[in-house]
Amino acid sequence: MVRRRIQTVVDEKDVNPKLAGSDLIDCIPQTGQCSNYCLECYYNHPGFYRTKSESLFPPYDTPKLVRVNSGHDSNIHREYVIESTSKYKEKFYNTSLPNFDFPGPVVFTCNGRDTDFSAMVVTKNLDNLMAVRFRTNLWNLDLLYEVIAYYALKKKIPVTITFMRYADVKNIPKQFLNFYVYRKSILNEYYILDPVKQDEVFGNYAHELVGACGKGSSFCRDCGRCKKLYNDWKVKRGFKAMTSVLYINSN
Ligand code: SF4
Repeated sequence: MVRRRIQTVVDEKDVNPKLAGSDLIDCIPQTGQCSNYCLECYYNHPGFYRTKSESLFPPYDTPKLVRVNSGHDSNIHREYVIESTSKYKEKFYNTSLPNFDFPGPVVFTCNGRDTDFSAMVVTKNLDNLMAVRFRTNLWNLDLLYEVIAYYALKKKIPVTITFMRYADVKNIPKQFLNFYVYRKSILNEYYILDPVKQDEVFGNYAHELVGACGKGSSFCRDCGRCKKLYNDWKVKRGFKAMTSVLYINSN
C-alpha cells in the first residue's frame, strides 16, 4: 500500500466534485480497491473522480470537516487509518463494518455488501455513531422500515437515506425499471430513482432523525446534513460545535 506524505495544498484533481464548495473535504488513507465490494460502489467503479493508486490527505490545517473514507472503509487497515488521520482536528470516519471504536464519530453504512437483503443491527458500543446510512431502493423498503425503527426510534441515532444509483441496469429488477431515469449525476451517468418517487419514499418515512443524502441536489454544498449531524454529535457530548468555514476557496 502506498503511503503518501500529507500535502500542503489540495490539487485540483483531488477535489471531489460532490464536495466542492462545501464544509467537507475527503481523506482516503488507503490505496487500491476496497475489499468490501459493495454493489455499485462509486469508489470501486471506473468513474471515480481520482486515482486509487495514491492516498488522499488534505492539509492537516484544513479548516474543513474531514470525511475519512467516503471511498474505502475505515475498518480496513484500521490502525493505519487512525494513525494517519490523528492530526485532523475535525473529522469523522465512514465504515460499512460494525466496529465503531474510532477516535471520533462514525457514519455506519448498515447494508453495504448485502444491500437488497439484509441490514446490520448493532447492539453494543453505539456511542460513537454519528449516523447510520441506509442504501435505499424500491425493493428493500421493508429493511429501511426496520432500520429506522431500531436506530432512529429506539436508539435515537440519525438515519440517512441514500438512494441507490445504478451504473449497471441489470442490478434493477425489471418490475422497477420504470421508476428509474438514466442521466448524468456529477461526473457519470446512472439509472437514478425518479425524484417524484424519492419524495414519496422519503415522505413515507418522515421523522426528525431521518434525512436523505443528495435528494434534490447531489452536491454537499446544497445539503449540509453531514456537518449538522457532526455538530449535533459533538454538542450532545459536551463538545464545542465546529464553526462554519465557508468559503475560503472553492475546494
Ligand atoms: S448527506 Fe448531504 S452533506 Fe452528507 S454526503 Fe450526502 S449530500 Fe453531502
